[in-house]
Amino acid sequence: MDYKMFLIKYAEIGTKGKNRYVFEEAMCKRMRARLKPHGSFEVTRAYGRIYVEAFSEYDMDDVLEALGTIFGIVGICPVKVVEKLEFDEIARALVEYVDNEYPNKNFSFKMNCRRNNKAFLKGSMEMNADLGAVLLDAFPELSVDVHKPDIFVNVEIRDVVYIYSKIIPGPGGLPVGTNGKGMVLLSGGIDSPVAAYMIAKRGVELEAIYFNAPPYTSERAKQKVIDLAKLVARYSGPIKLNIVNFTDVQLAIYDNCPHDELTIIMKRVFYRMAQELALKDECQCIITGESIGQVSSQTTQSLMVIDLAADKLPVMRPCIGLDKQEIIDISQKIGTFETSILPYEDCCTTFVAKHPVTRPKLEAILESEAKLEGKLEELYASAMDNIEVVYCR
Ligand code: ATP
Ligand code: MG
Repeated sequence: MDYKMFLIKYAEIGTKGKNRYVFEEAMCKRMRARLKPHGSFEVTRAYGRIYVEAFSEYDMDDVLEALGTIFGIVGICPVKVVEKLEFDEIARALVEYVDNEYPNKNFSFKMNCRRNNKAFLKGSMEMNADLGAVLLDAFPELSVDVHKPDIFVNVEIRDVVYIYSKIIPGPGGLPVGTNGKGMVLLSGGIDSPVAAYMIAKRGVELEAIYFNAPPYTSERAKQKVIDLAKLVARYSGPIKLNIVNFTDVQLAIYDNCPHDELTIIMKRVFYRMAQELALKDECQCIITGESIGQVSSQTTQSLMVIDLAADKLPVMRPCIGLDKQEIIDISQKIGTFETSILPYEDCCTTFVAKHPVTRPKLEAILESEAKLEGKLEELYASAMDNIEVVYCR
């Protein structure tokens, strides 16, 4: 069956009081952008609800996939629209709707009519009883259960009549653009795209930074990060990806600092560069994919020492308390997993020590970093001046 309309359900936005329209508008904007390639649609807000109306042919799977990437949406209901406000018309459409949607009729239902249009003569109680009887007549296998029905059959009588019962789950969260902007440290791994997704899900717009180390890391490794940014961008909207050539900085650290501290010192430089760029581009936070205890640089002691390098912005680590499997589950759900596991090298793994410190002391790290004085500044500035920007959408 072709549906001309979808009713969009949202939950948390409804608690936003006077600001509610700001959230609704942000969500509508994302919906319009994501639906555009799939046909001619109109997204409207009416009666405290959001509707999508189709004015062209479309592919149902494409539309559901697109709407399924929009934060704020908790449910997508394909709606059958009845133009004529006549009982017989409504009854006929309802029978057709149920027949199409539920090939197997062994379920219980409850009618849930709402009459917002008082010009329609039957009240909602009467409509519940009459339409329920129509359905039972048409499909004797059905049963009514007013306490715990398998399915609620909704009929809303407004200027036209809306019939719907199926609710396809959306991703939840808050519309992107309603909660500032964050700079995600995006690597080619599993964790950081998940972290980016989780923060975007709370309404935060994303920008990204990737530290590349050619020729130690390949063009394919870089392309993989671009691909991951594009996958995340389906949810978050366009991502400005900053690609920093980190090779010279990394070699300077390698040449001047103890090798068991390399990862820690390198991460501290990551944070400093990310923070500088974040402040320039008006981000309010840095985002990483770190999770306690996952690797040596993610012990609480290591995280403390690394964290102190970002002294002007908070670092958000949404994966911090998740097990690897839990992170993998999310990456599979959002479609980044298959790309993340492609086996290309990362600058962190290329220069990793055999026995990295797991309990770095801040004083020792600062002492090691002092050895870089006079050697790092120019390389740091040159890396920051030569950032390659890729817009991922
Ligand atoms: P991921 O799966 O996200 O790569 P990981 O388990 O490999 O994480 P690390 O390599 O220790 O862990 O990296 C921790 C975090 O540091 C990453 O989640 C990411 O946010 C950031 N990071 C690591 N390498 C890079 C890089 N080359 N460019 C940008 N950010 C990076
Ligand atoms: Mg990694």
